[in-house]
Order: sequence, then structure tokens, then C-alpha cells
Amino acid sequence: MKQTDIKYTNQRIEILDFLKEFDGHPTVDDVYEGVRQKLTRISKATVYNNLKFLAQKGLIKEVNVKGVSRFESNLVPHHHTICIECGEIKDYESEDLSEYAMSIANKIDNFKVQSSDTNFYGICKKCMEME
Ligand SMILES: [Zn+2]
Ligand SMILES: [Zn+2]
Repeated sequence: MKQTDIKYTNQRIEILDFLKEFDGHPTVDDVYEGVRQKLTRISKATVYNNLKFLAQKGLIKEVNVKGVSRFESNLVPHHHTICIECGEIKDYESEDLSEYAMSIANKIDNFKVQSSDTNFYGICKKCMEME
């Protein structure tokens, strides 16, 4: 996976910029709404294909939450806390957990693990206070 293999089209640059500025984990719809401001003729399918491409190339990360793809530009290994009430996703960094997961990953036969992240499901502070 050499970076030189990647063609930085206008669309890809706009999508990467959007992800860098977006605070959180936008869905395809969110990214589409965002880049459409500048690239008025872009289609949702194009946004989706570019997101998939960039994730495949390791330039962004795809996080799957309840069957919905979300994307982020934070490539530092990290985990997520996900609120089952409102769906809020937050980054959770734990080197211990990352190291532990990878130490187990090394024991998996016939498979080379490259990364691992954990989703913690629960209730966020905002939702707890509403109860
Ligand atoms: Zn919540
Ligand atoms: Zn994240």
C-alpha cells in the first residue's frame, strides 16, 4: 500500500478535508451533505465509493456501528464508546487494551491481524442524566 498509488482527485481531497474538520464519526450521509457544499454535482454513490476507497488505502478509518458505516480521519489506534440510546460515538484511547488485543491477535492461526478496535456499548452521560 504505497501512498503514491493513490490518485488525489478533487473529490478525495474534499472528502479528506471534511473528515479532518468534522468532530466525530460522520456517516456517508453526513459526508455527502458536507462535501456537497463545495462539489455541488457530486452524487452520494461517488462519496460512498471514495470513502470506501480511502478506507481501503488506510487513509481514513471505517467504523461499523449497528450496521451503519461511519468514517474518521483519526488513524491513531483507539476504541469507541457507543451510546445505545442516542447513538453518540466517542473515541476512547487505551494503549493497554490495544496491546492486549494485539497480544491475543498474534495467537490467531493462519491470519495476520493488522489492527483491532473495541466498541463499548452503554449509556452516555447526557442520556443518564435524562433518566
Ligand atoms: Zn446517549
Ligand atoms: Zn474514533
